[in-house]
Amino acid sequence: MANTMQNKGILIVLSGFSGAGKGTLVKKLLETYDNYALSVSMTTRAPREGEQDGVHYFFSSREQFEEKIQADGFIEYAQYCDNYYGTPKAYVEEQLAAGKNVILEIEIQGALQIKKLFPESLLLFVTPPTAAELERRLKSRGTETEEVIAKRLARASEESEGIEAYDYIVVNDNLETCVEELHQIVKAARAVPVRREAFIKEIREELKGFVKGAQN
Ligand code: 5GP
Repeated sequence: MANTMQNKGILIVLSGFSGAGKGTLVKKLLETYDNYALSVSMTTRAPREGEQDGVHYFFSSREQFEEKIQADGFIEYAQYCDNYYGTPKAYVEEQLAAGKNVILEIEIQGALQIKKLFPESLLLFVTPPTAAELERRLKSRGTETEEVIAKRLARASEESEGIEAYDYIVVNDNLETCVEELHQIVKAARAVPVRREAFIKEIREELKGFVKGAQN
């Protein structure tokens, strides 16, 4: 008998040093596969050139952000290099219920909050192959001042201390290979029993029907 119960999607946390290429990676993953949804965060940092409100982030003032904290509107939030960043609740809940794998592209403090709240979430850490490559990518982006780059590299050093909290490390050397690897990890993770509770419950119920049949 076919199992009809729809599987909920899984919550995927994607962290990595600033400049690791997470943005490009996620964009490619969403273009290639249709069962992913990306959560758009809210931040108090100023938009970079080319960033659009509601697409890359919901840009807000500190006051607006703090109001949303008070209203319990975030799944998690954190301060990063002098700004607030947070994940609005509603979209994530909707998309998970619709069976999508929801990606949160967030830093480590947020990742740890998510793991605590949702132990069945999948934590992935993206890193460039070397530290020198990270510095090169941050500089070549040309969107940040020397001072901001220095702050972000210092923050990367701090974040590297927390990598063990993640389920998988993905080295972003080649974009295509990396996207494929991510997708395979997610597919495998969805098959772990703790993430298939609805399926397990349903098949158990169905099998009980056979036990009764054999007793008659
Ligand atoms: P950026 O300023 O480069 O866009 O982001 C800085 C850092 O904040 C990145 O590591 C990014 O993943 C993280 N970030 C973005 N949105 C959120 C969020 O909603 N929550 C948390 N905790 N971190 C976020």
